[in-house]
Formats: sequence, C-alpha cells, structure tokens
Amino acid sequence: MQRTAREARFAAIVMAATLLFCGVAALFLMYRHGSSTELERVQQRGELVVATRHAPTVYHQGAEGPDGFEVALIRAFAKHLGVKPKFVFPETLDDLLGATSSGKVNMAAAGLTATAQRRERVSFSFPYEYVTEQVVYRRGTKRPKSLDEIAEGELHVVADSSHEETLNRLKSNDRPNLTWQRYVGIGTETLLSQLDEGKLRLTVVDSNEVELSRRVYKHAATAFELGDPQPIAWAFPRRGDGTLLSAANDFLRQAQKTGHLQRLQARYFGHSGRMNFVDTRDFWRHVRDRLPDYQHLFEEAADITGIDWRLLAAIGYQESHWQADAVSPTGVRGIMMLTQGTARQVGVTDRNDPQQSIIGGAKYLKVVGRKIPTRIKEPHHLWLTLAGYNVGFGHLEDARILTERDGGNPDLWLEVKQRLPLLTKKEYYSTVKNGFARGNEPVNYVDNIRNYYDLLVWYTTTTDVATRDRLLAAEEEQKPDL
Ligand code: GLU
Repeated sequence: MQRTAREARFAAIVMAATLLFCGVAALFLMYRHGSSTELERVQQRGELVVATRHAPTVYHQGAEGPDGFEVALIRAFAKHLGVKPKFVFPETLDDLLGATSSGKVNMAAAGLTATAQRRERVSFSFPYEYVTEQVVYRRGTKRPKSLDEIAEGELHVVADSSHEETLNRLKSNDRPNLTWQRYVGIGTETLLSQLDEGKLRLTVVDSNEVELSRRVYKHAATAFELGDPQPIAWAFPRRGDGTLLSAANDFLRQAQKTGHLQRLQARYFGHSGRMNFVDTRDFWRHVRDRLPDYQHLFEEAADITGIDWRLLAAIGYQESHWQADAVSPTGVRGIMMLTQGTARQVGVTDRNDPQQSIIGGAKYLKVVGRKIPTRIKEPHHLWLTLAGYNVGFGHLEDARILTERDGGNPDLWLEVKQRLPLLTKKEYYSTVKNGFARGNEPVNYVDNIRNYYDLLVWYTTTTDVATRDRLLAAEEEQKPDL
C-alpha cells in the first residue's frame, strides 16, 4: 500500500516534470520563432527572394543563362549569407515597390534610384552606383538641347520610374507646361526599342542603360541629361527589423573596400563605351552579310576546342572583320589573322582558307592559354590569354608584375587592364624585363572582343525578334541630324 503511494507520488512528479519541460520547450520555441530576425529567417529558409526587372543593366540572358550587374551582385550577397537567390518579376515598378514595402519579397535589386518619394515606402541600402537620367532622342531627328525644346506629349516615360519623379519635380518647380506620356508595365528597354523602330522620338533612360543599349538600338542617342548623378541602391521593407538591410550594407561596404564592386562595374559596364555609332552599324551589317558564310566553321571549331563559337566569332571579327582574304602589313592573314609561324604550329597550310584559319586560330588559343597559370579563374584566364596573345606574353607578365607592385591582384584581368597602359611610360617600362610596349592595344583588343561577344550572345538569345530583324535589315539612308 505504502509502496503504491510512493509510486503514485513518483508518477505524479514525473508527469509534472514532463509537463514543465514541454511547457518550457514550447515557450522557448515560440519565443525563438517570434524573435527570429529577418536575416535569420532568410538564412533558415536558405532563400533570398529578390524582386527585379528585365533590363540589360539588371537581369538579362547571358551566354550561360541569367546575367547582369544586379544578378552578379545579388549572387555574391546571397553567397555571403549562405543562401540561394530567387528572382521574381513584378509587372510594374509600382508593383515592385509594393511587393518590397509589404514584405512579400525580401528585397528589390532592380537598378532602382533611391529617390525621396520612394524613401517613404522602402528603406534603401548604401548606394552601389550613380547614374544620370538621360533624355534619349532618335538619331536623324532634331536633337533637343533642353526640356524647353520638347513639344507636348513628345516625351515617353516609364510610369512610376525615378524619371517620372524627376519630371514631376521639374514641372512643379518652374515648367508647368511640361507633359509626357507614361507607360505602365513597360520597361525602358521596350521604349528604346520603339524609339529605334521610329514609333517614338524621345524617352528618358539611365546613363548605364543607354551605354549598353545603344549597341543594339542603334538609332538611340543621348540628347541631354536631366540632372546630377543619382544613387542606385537595393530596397528593403521599411517595417522590417533592419537586420537584412544592415547585412546588405555591411556586404556592400566590404565589396567597395575590397574592390569587388568596382570590378563588377568594370566587368559589366567597362567596355561598352568603346563602340561608337559607326562601329555598331558596321558590326550588324557584317553579322548580316559576312557571318552566315562562317558561322558553321566557328561552330565546328567550337566542337573541337570546347570554346564558345560566339567567342571565336568575336575574335575573328576583331581580327579581320570576317574577311577571309584579310592581310596586314606585318604579314598576318586570314580570318583569324595568323602569323606564318603560328599557322605552322597548328597545322594550317593555307591561312586564307577560312576553315583552316578558324580551326587553327581556336587551337592556337588553347595553346597560348597554357601560358597563363591554370589557378586563374575564368573569365580572367581568357581575357589575360587574349591580351597576351595581342601584346606578347612577356609584356603581359610585366604588366602583371606592375599590378602586384601596386598592391593589385595580377590574376584579375580588370586589375591588369589598368596597368597595361603604363608600359608606354618610361618610369614604368624601364623597371620591367621586356621594356616598352603599346599597352593600350591589348586593352582595346580585349574590350572590343568582349563587346562583340556580348552582342553575339544577345543576338543568339534575344526574344526581341523585331529589334534583331531591324538590326539586320538593309540600311536605311542615314539622315543627318536636323
Ligand atoms: N533608375 C530607374 C528607376 O529607379 C530605372 C527605371 C527604369 O529604367 O525603368 O526608376
């Protein structure tokens, strides 16, 4: 009897202890969940949901899938957090800001200008870029010099964009007659495409987008700037606890300090300025008239070497503008402009034979690629190889030494690119082994190839068939600007 009472007491104690434990555990879990920060929630889920938009500066199709400056920056940020990015595409800019402010997405990365009005809805990160807003006009029409020269309804602008905010401000300040047409759910790229087609004459586009787009929309040219450079930043919900935002700020500050940010900027925007209107027009004419004869050969060379055919074609364009009978005063010849020695090395017996030249050139690229240490990652390895191929590997090595002396990383093309031109200056070339070199040339060479490559990637992946066809259509008479 006594024993049973003891047992009962024991059982009651066990029961009470279990209940207490469960209660504490439940409270702890509730507390934990309730108190987990925005940043912790993203990390627990393993996914960062980012609202973005399609634009050449933000998110577009690249050679290996989605690419763009914002995409690269977000991928780096997500990696830093240990999560995967997931991009979503709200239909309008207003939806994009709405999804951000309501917390439907974790953040927005869309080349957004951090404007005063938007700050009422969202919180902005540290700015990672500055752009000017440019009024773009159609070449061959009268170029306006200021807003005063724009007639009613002539300006076409994306609704709720920073551009519209600027125009609203200018209108209420001292231009009550200023009017424009606004487009909901249509991006600047579509407006540029319509301008190129001749459907509209004037629009407003961020400077970095103008720079990239004018290689494809060849009638687009800047008329004037609307104002001073504006900060571009990521947007976050205002009502959040700020932990994700401050992680972003830490990341961006760090990226700036280490030069990662500047390298990404140089990678995405650094070479596009080199193509002027004539280069662009000629390039597309040659895509139409010359490339069809050789594309299958570039593809064949790609099969043999594993190098993207569009890259081989870009090199071929830089070398000879796709002319099989090209010859230079220094005796290099053919589509890939091979020297006699190089040709011999890769088994080319007739340098003017396009098939031999293209396959030989591709094979030679593999051969010289071995001169660049294999630890160097792509795309740096490739750009350094091309630079070395152009200027000579001894000079390239000298530029890499100068880069290192300067505290830069000699394994990054964008760093070496800055030092190559120093080889024209005595105070530098006299300190290295191979002396003077025309160091600007490999920089132009690689920049040009990257431009052609970008454009061929765009050409082979775009869904904007109308623009592509327009680029290839027979030239219309080029009217001088009125
Ligand atoms: N920076 C512009 C903005 O924030 C980009 C908008 C656009 O080009 O559509 O509104």
